[in-house]
Amino acid sequence: FPTFKFDVADEQRTQAIAQNLADAVKKASPQGVVIHLEGDLGAGKTTFSRYFIQTLGHSGAVKSPTYTLVEPYELDEVNVYHFDLYRLADPEELEFMGIRDYFGTNTVCLVEWPERGGALLATADITITIKLEENIRCFTLTAEGEVGAGILTVAFA
Ligand code: ADP
Ligand code: MG
Repeated sequence: FPTFKFDVADEQRTQAIAQNLADAVKKASPQGVVIHLEGDLGAGKTTFSRYFIQTLGHSGAVKSPTYTLVEPYELDEVNVYHFDLYRLADPEELEFMGIRDYFGTNTVCLVEWPERGGALLATADITITIKLEENIRCFTLTAEGEVGAGILTVAFA
């Protein structure tokens, strides 16, 4: 499956990548799409998510779901669920949240800190890893299957 890498020097570049990906995801729906976002605190996961969610049609603010674990965006054409599992104490909490109901057709799930979600978390179609070095953010977008491969190819090939 394909991988794309970008060196990102400013927020405009993050925005451009997020917009390309969101436009490709739009074309892929009503299939459900799961995107995992990996990277340290401050890497730029929420910033990426903000531009992505706005491209899908949300016009207001996008706040970090650090304390709520998930922020829902019920948009015209798609439901977006933005997770931040950093503060998840136990993967079982996802069971109580009804995690399975979030992953379905016509939904896009963005998950920050997916490594804290354990086995209940849906596997990714696309994994994005952001590495901050000096002032450059290295984005690696990896397709984890056919669905992700199709989206990344439309977005970046
Ligand atoms: P994370 O969600 O990974 O913890 P954030 O998205 O909250 O990180 O970003 C942390 C800080 O880095 C914010 O102040 C944000 O404005 C800044 N930032 C994020 N992406 C970029 C970028 N591409 N260029 C410059 N600054 C950025
Ligand atoms: Mg964040």
